[in-house]
Amino acid sequence: MSSLKPAQPRVYARPEHTISRAQISPNALKVLYRLKKAGFRACLVGGCVRDLLLGREPKDFDVATDAHPEQVRELFRNCRLVGRRFRLAHIRFGREIIEVATFRGVAALGREGDWAQEETGRLLRDNVFGTIEEDAWRRDFTVNALYYDIADFSVIDYVGGMEDLRQGVLRLIGDPERRYREDPVRMLRAVRFMTKLGFTLDAACERPLSRLTPLLADIPPARLYEEVLKLFLSGCAVQTFERLRQYGLFAYLFPATDEALAQEHHGFPLTFLVRVLDNTDRRLNEGKAVTPYFLYAALLWEPVRLEAQRRQEVGSAPVVAMQEAASEILSVQIRHVAIPRRISLPMREVWTLQPRFERRQGGRPFRLLSHPRFRAAYDFLLLRSEAGEAEPALADWWTRFQQADENERRKMLEKPRRKRRRRPRQRKGAKQTSVST
Ligand code: ATP
Ligand code: MG
Repeated sequence: MSSLKPAQPRVYARPEHTISRAQISPNALKVLYRLKKAGFRACLVGGCVRDLLLGREPKDFDVATDAHPEQVRELFRNCRLVGRRFRLAHIRFGREIIEVATFRGVAALGREGDWAQEETGRLLRDNVFGTIEEDAWRRDFTVNALYYDIADFSVIDYVGGMEDLRQGVLRLIGDPERRYREDPVRMLRAVRFMTKLGFTLDAACERPLSRLTPLLADIPPARLYEEVLKLFLSGCAVQTFERLRQYGLFAYLFPATDEALAQEHHGFPLTFLVRVLDNTDRRLNEGKAVTPYFLYAALLWEPVRLEAQRRQEVGSAPVVAMQEAASEILSVQIRHVAIPRRISLPMREVWTLQPRFERRQGGRPFRLLSHPRFRAAYDFLLLRSEAGEAEPALADWWTRFQQADENERRKMLEKPRRKRRRRPRQRKGAKQTSVST
């Protein structure tokens, strides 16, 4: 691919771009300078250069160099080589890790045995060292292939990324269909970057998308787990979700959810999911933490809920029905997107606590309150009730129950036997409580 293109990059000298060293992590600068001093080429590359040029704060700083991994290791005491397929150097400074990658060649230029391609066009390996130019051509989008060279503080552009950045266009390098086939995850990355950056996807890159979505089925579920998290933890999950559905990508990530959404009549599931995603975005934009299991629990809630309902209709008790539904839906889901156990366990808890909220007699509410997953499950219930899928009165009861003191809590409990009169009685009881205190 690269041999067909002009070898001369466009170089933007220091006054022609907006990157200043003050915006760059001091640790990344240390790495760049030390490589340079040892006689190697050293550049910042990828997302950090793109974000710096856009005036955004980069998430992390990646370095590309012509030094081989072992040579990098010799220069840094705090260095560890990672990655089986392609060796990368991780240089650690306290909590910050600067990733240093040796320039990598494009597959077609590799020696036999160093690259392989499937019938669909998917690249299986591309672990050959290359020149900076080859390294640029093998990257996904033009705006992700810009280099900030520490030798003269220039920005080096082989692929027209600078112009695309100015225009707000996301464009794959080379032939779009071929690049999607090489690595179908690029379809998800297209959605991620267009929403995150607010860019338009170049028409030629958008056209083949819907047709190529089935290629996602070949991607290892473990890799998709990471990608899905990046998609939904980007701070613009609502838009991302809408785009994924628009292109038909969502169906390959969450088939059971997609099916449930297609069948919906009352609008609950969509409202619920959008609420959760909106909530996630707001939390992230306020700098608060978001737990992946909560997000995944929400993404799969509708099929789990429907399956539990079916099982209840044929006689399972509510909590058992929920446990069985959880297993059923999870076992299908992990064939598409892997879910590690540390995530699926709390997901199950959030789900199975939902029917337990209904039971408000005796010691049950007290036991539920002290459950380690109570808080997450209660937040989940609130979102369900806001979406109109759970009784607002139920969510409200739990809100009051948490705020009440021991005495009030006892008064709030439902009387177990007389089922028909349960509701009016409970309301009366609640009123008395507030009068007597
Ligand atoms: P973010 O800020 O979200 O991390 P990023 O651009 O840094 O965005 P990464 O996933 O960290 O994204 O990847 C770093 C760089 O590696 C990209 O900018 C791109 O140049 C290259 N890259 C990553 N994934 C691919 C891929 N699937 N195909 C080609 N190049 C890729
Ligand atoms: Mg990155």
